[in-house]
Amino acid sequence: MNSIVLVTGGSRGIGAATAKHLAKLGYAVCVNYISNEIEANKVVASIENNGGKAIAVQADVSIENDVINLFNVIDNSLGRITHLVNNAGILLPQMRLSEMSAERINKVLKTNVTSYFLCCREAIKRMDNGGSIVNVSSAASRLGSPSEYIDYAASKGAIDTLTIGLSLELAADNIRVNCVRPGFIHTSMHADGGEPNRIERVKDLIPLRRGGKPEEVAESIAFLLSNESSYVTGTFIDVAGGR
Ligand code: NAP
Repeated sequence: MNSIVLVTGGSRGIGAATAKHLAKLGYAVCVNYISNEIEANKVVASIENNGGKAIAVQADVSIENDVINLFNVIDNSLGRITHLVNNAGILLPQMRLSEMSAERINKVLKTNVTSYFLCCREAIKRMDNGGSIVNVSSAASRLGSPSEYIDYAASKGAIDTLTIGLSLELAADNIRVNCVRPGFIHTSMHADGGEPNRIERVKDLIPLRRGGKPEEVAESIAFLLSNESSYVTGTFIDVAGGR
């Protein structure tokens, strides 16, 4: 059986590193993005230049119709997916909860939580012969991100619970659901929080004394996705330098 994977938010950061790594392992990859077509096409070109197979598909994964369309495009161009990496996520400028609007909170929850539920739903429908799902959560679900973005941290707490519940719901169907929780990883996400050099500020608090590389997260995602972890479900790997 060919392995066909969707990586949501595959145009940049952890998602891009994961898409490239999985392609090297033989997966046909759908690189999803919301707006950055140029970066998504670069990921596809890089995969193709290394002899792999990939397509880029625009979809806002927080919108139900976009998700349905995304999976239909994959069906028609790559085939029914066998693996899913739920990775697309956002964080918004650092602030205390007392300053947060309902609009902001809802945007974070819709993008980081509703999207994972919708993509799991569509993936499961296609995984008649079993499958594997990896959710990208965050160390923030354990640490809470006080005075930075509790909304983001809480959205990742929801992903941890989704992973536990769905892994149990699907175990008898031979669909495994696992989770990675990255810590401080060098991507442009920190700039979205208003502090591009955030890792530099906090790195002495990290036991390994450095931020992580997107490729180091991709390795753990690939392990949980693959048959190398065939007896593992409902499990978390903290890729957070010991914190
Ligand atoms: P990033 O560099 O900011 O990239 C975000 C990706 O998500 C981009 O590909 C973006 O697409 C896509 N995206 C955003 N909203 C989307 C939507 N509604 N629909 C479809 N795609 C969407 O982020 P990252 O740092 O790699 O983070 C990836 C995941 O790891 C996130 O879930 C994040 O919470 C988690 N994480 C990151 C860190 C870290 O330190 N970086 C730590 C813990 C957890 P465009 O390119 O089109 O904008």
